[in-house]
Amino acid sequence: MPVEVATTMENINSLLVFSTHTFEKSFINAAAEKMNIAVHYLDTQLNKETAYLAKGAKAICLFVNDDGNSETLRILKEQGVELILLRSAGFNNIDLATCRELGIKVARVPEYSPYSVAEHTIALIQCLNRKLHKALPRVRDLNFSLDNLIGFDLHGKTVGVLGTGKIGSQVARILNGFGCEVLAYDEKINEELIQSGICRYTDLEEILIKSHIVSLHLPLNSQTHHLINRDNIKLMKPEALLVNTSRGALLETKALIQALKHKRLRGAALDVYEEEENIFFSDHSFDILQDDQLARLLTFPNVIITAHQAFLTFEALEAIATTTIQNLDQYRSGHPLRNEVLLKE
Ligand code: NAD
Repeated sequence: MPVEVATTMENINSLLVFSTHTFEKSFINAAAEKMNIAVHYLDTQLNKETAYLAKGAKAICLFVNDDGNSETLRILKEQGVELILLRSAGFNNIDLATCRELGIKVARVPEYSPYSVAEHTIALIQCLNRKLHKALPRVRDLNFSLDNLIGFDLHGKTVGVLGTGKIGSQVARILNGFGCEVLAYDEKINEELIQSGICRYTDLEEILIKSHIVSLHLPLNSQTHHLINRDNIKLMKPEALLVNTSRGALLETKALIQALKHKRLRGAALDVYEEEENIFFSDHSFDILQDDQLARLLTFPNVIITAHQAFLTFEALEAIATTTIQNLDQYRSGHPLRNEVLLKE
């Protein structure tokens, strides 16, 4: 994709988008056109080296792997940036303390089809469980053998859902529909899930010990970093599946690799990876992979990885674009920023 550098941005009626992907451009264009906002696209990822590209831009738009650390933010401020619009729900990549110090406002898209991520989570669970990643290429190769393809019924199994916010609660509902017993872990209890008999809340330890599937739906923050780690992964059943569609660093990758290597887990399905930042969202098929942990994960027959695509539905992309542009519109018209991310969150 050609790099289009923004040189003409003079006011807040324009937006500079970092890390633009082909799949999202038409959705952003459609939303921006309705609000008379000119959009300038960069395919460049934001970091301290690329922050200078924001010169003259008051509003910039970032994606999950753009790096909004303190140093980068200070450079952005010098370029005139006042507003950072995240086209994501997660905001772990932005140093909010520095934003507050510099007076840079941050807004996000707190909700955009939780169904997109929840349904992808279920797709990963069933792909791994029923070994579809092995079965489909086999049939294409005219190998119709069923050897080594046995899965298990979801019905009657115990599933641990860690985080019952917008996405996790939807995952819990779907799994309840499969006839699973859902055990939930969250610092805030969702009464509605309990009332409707969807799940029972308990502690992390009981969930890890009892579950046949453990699925992560918590945000990444200092309390949840390596929530699943070398100490507690040992509590999981050897026949259990571990699923992460939330943020890579919730899970200690080294600990996962050791558990898989020593057959202490049945398998893992990942849509996110701890070190995905410079790898995911682009084509590296002709590169020599430098990340040895990812290389090791890719050798396991019982690991499936998608490249942070759980959100990738038409409905989600439209909602992300619309809310992002609405966030900009609220800011430029002086209204309170409904989706502002504040330090205390
Ligand atoms: P949410 O805010 O609705 O839910 C998060 C839940 O985690 C809340 O119920 C909260 O109480 C709980 N929680 C937060 N910190 C906790 C802690 N320390 N201990 C226990 N519980 C805690 O968020 P959501 O919309 O359900 O999204 C969940 C995560 O999914 C996001 O943070 C993001 O990282 C990830 N995500 C991934 C994709 C993808 O494409 N793979 C897309 C969107 C979101």
